[in-house]
Amino acid sequence: MNICIYCGSLSGSNPAYTSAAEEVAHELVSRNWGLVYGGGSIGIMGSIASTVRASGGYVHGIIPTFLAVDEVMYRDCSELTIVESMHRRKQLMIDHSSMLLALPGGYGTLDELFEAITWKQLQLHDRPIGLLNVDGYFDPLLSLIDHMSATGFVREKHKSMMIVSDSVVDLLNALEAHAGNPLYDRTERG
Ligand code: AMP
Repeated sequence: MNICIYCGSLSGSNPAYTSAAEEVAHELVSRNWGLVYGGGSIGIMGSIASTVRASGGYVHGIIPTFLAVDEVMYRDCSELTIVESMHRRKQLMIDHSSMLLALPGGYGTLDELFEAITWKQLQLHDRPIGLLNVDGYFDPLLSLIDHMSATGFVREKHKSMMIVSDSVVDLLNALEAHAGNPLYDRTERG
């Protein structure tokens, strides 16, 4: 079983973000789950990948050509896929995974997370999506989603598209319980 992780290419200002990434990495290895991620060597991305590899786990990095340079690419992946575009990367990251998880990150993390949510809303996939709310990092985002729902831009049935937790173990257990069969329709996404 593989899990796709979206997270920062920076480490953030709170050491708890990197600690949480390392805890996730150890949990993945102990559960024998593979990591699918963006293939970077920097920030939280680098921390999680290197911790998984150092613990003997499997890492599949999927990176677009323009980011496949020494400064940012993690060369010790078990498997490295270099693709032509960000779109292709995001598609493959989901295709190769049974569940999706976001850790603290910036614009790139939110882009990936919201594309996964949007595609799920459109029933293009049925992977469970987790949000690890480390030290309340995502509280403002969760408030925004409440606001979007309260003001009529998010349907009630789509309000809870993510499983949110501050506990790594609880969140991975919940994702595992919901890991379903992919419903992906490649042709619709081009
Ligand atoms: P950000 O949250 O803006 O730091 O972007 C991180 C997310 O975007 C990751 O999940 C990656 O898939 C992708 N990404 C952004 N920058 C890089 C980079 N330098 N190397 C690899 N992936 C990156």
